[in-house]
Amino acid sequence: MDRKEEIKKRIQEARKRQMFTVDEYVGGIVKGDRMILAKAITLIESYKEEHQTIAKEIIDKCLQIKSQSLRIGITGTPGVGKSTFIESLGMHVLRKGKKIAVLAIDPTSQMSHGSILGDKTRMEELSHQENAFIRPSAAGTSLGGVARKTREVMILCEAAGYDTIFIETVGVGQSEVAVHSMTDFFLLLLLPGGGDELQGIKRGIVEMADAIVVNKSDINPVLAKQSKKAYRNAVHLFPQKESKWVVKTLMCSALQNEGIDAVWQTILNYQDLTIQNDYFHQKRQQQSDYWFKQALQQGLEQLIKNHPQISQEMKLLKQQIFQGKMSPFAAADKIISLLK
Ligand code: GDP
Repeated sequence: MDRKEEIKKRIQEARKRQMFTVDEYVGGIVKGDRMILAKAITLIESYKEEHQTIAKEIIDKCLQIKSQSLRIGITGTPGVGKSTFIESLGMHVLRKGKKIAVLAIDPTSQMSHGSILGDKTRMEELSHQENAFIRPSAAGTSLGGVARKTREVMILCEAAGYDTIFIETVGVGQSEVAVHSMTDFFLLLLLPGGGDELQGIKRGIVEMADAIVVNKSDINPVLAKQSKKAYRNAVHLFPQKESKWVVKTLMCSALQNEGIDAVWQTILNYQDLTIQNDYFHQKRQQQSDYWFKQALQQGLEQLIKNHPQISQEMKLLKQQIFQGKMSPFAAADKIISLLK
């Protein structure tokens, strides 16, 4: 029996048992088995310790599988047309022979199941395509936790052969920073409506964008064109990007599939430029470093929280800080000395 057949047989047996070993999960993921991929993602999203242990092993093994992926972040306020745009661009990319995964970081997902990005009817056409995998945002108590899980899910999707990853978020704050920290290209969707629109969006978010795309250009093409110009003038005032990429402003109608190819071409041009000048690779390294530090920080916080003696000391020190008896810095030093 060759290796492929062996994996297939083991998966069939495991299906009956409703349980998989790490190797079976990884084998199934690599084979492109969507059911196993979805099950493995459920483990990542679970907060049970035994699930987390298996999930970590799966992620580590999936990281060994080399994949050439392109990670695209998309943001914009609710109603700007993100899901319509991802559906339109996604279908376009599928026709080019790609396999796509659509993930989301939704800061509201911890509050309710009816979160901003959670609507089941979104991306109807895309969700029926064999080469598209759509997963709503993980739920969690902190944005950091949700973002980390999304990054891990992305690693699994890449091991499963999804070479184009879309990560969507909603323009309501810190979640853009999280998406930017795990994607190669960052796209801001806006509505037509004069350059003033940019004033309402945090400057930091606009500065992160590699492309600004004015959607719904079918409603008022003249206004859309004016907005595109105004946005272009505004972004030209920003300093040059480390990537040496000049931010592009485009317009499209996601609903009517107009201007979508130009958006895709722009993304490919960015990829070409940054692979050539090595920024693509450098940025991924910077991102890994960022996630390493994030994970370390989260782990240390957890360690302190779960340590009875240290957490007790923390409470006492906090009181002393509040009473003005100790500076926050001296208190932090005291905790650190307990860890040594
Ligand atoms: P999201 O909240 O950003 O994901 O926005 P949706 O994709 O759900 O779109 C919100 C509404 O705008 C829906 O009714 C869409 O049909 C509509 N819409 C999206 N893109 C376009 C477009 O290019 N032109 C027009 N006329 N409507 C659009």
